[in-house]
Amino acid sequence: LSETLAQRLARVRERIDAATKRRGPGAEVTLIGVSKRQPVAAIEDAQQAGLVDLGENYAQELRDKHTQLGGLDLRWHFIGAVQRNKVKHLVGRCLVHTVDRLPLLEAIQARAEREGVDQEVLVEVNLGEEQKAGLAPSAVPTLLDAFADAPRVRCVGLMVIPPVGSPEQTRPHFQRLRQLRKSLLADTRANVDLQHLSMGMSADFEVAIEEGATMVRVGTAIFGPRPT
Ligand SMILES: *Cc1c(COP(=O)(O)O)cnc(C)c1O
Repeated sequence: LSETLAQRLARVRERIDAATKRRGPGAEVTLIGVSKRQPVAAIEDAQQAGLVDLGENYAQELRDKHTQLGGLDLRWHFIGAVQRNKVKHLVGRCLVHTVDRLPLLEAIQARAEREGVDQEVLVEVNLGEEQKAGLAPSAVPTLLDAFADAPRVRCVGLMVIPPVGSPEQTRPHFQRLRQLRKSLLADTRANVDLQHLSMGMSADFEVAIEEGATMVRVGTAIFGPRPT
């Protein structure tokens, strides 16, 4: 018998709670249900079951679902690669997790200025060798400095997509992101407040939480396999 979405969501929440307790008092974790390629009806089911945060990878898909589900109390997250010409679909609609270059930051600033909104983002860090997206740790300080010239945009944390591996192979990447955040906190920067670490997916969210994740991005463990 297959589990319902509400049952899968409940089990993910239990595992998050247990991992959060292992991390210690005061830890808080936001569960982002990654609904890419899932139908709007699945998101409605998840919302009924208490899910509030949703993650999408494709800019138009986020825009369309945001519009169709506008009546529901949901928070949206963009976790895919951003092309500059797609920024218009995202600004004002979601937290963008994947800012990894100056021209993208400038495009978001320009759009936010034009719409008269403030936009929160995360900076995506590349800790692996074979990953395409993301910024090398050594280049992160320079991008964070540039937020001083982007008054409509605020950096609220860091995000990573580690190379594929077992949870224990992935753990050092999560540790490195936590350490990077800690070292960056030594400098104060305008429009930068690194509260969040977005890390961990269905296969490894518990390890990510043990290592300090404040946002986990969980797709298949909640919604089941993605339609192709
Ligand atoms: C698809 C995706 C996820 C969710 O993956 P699951 O393995 O289904 O949990 C998380 N983060 C990013 C960046 C993704 O693209």
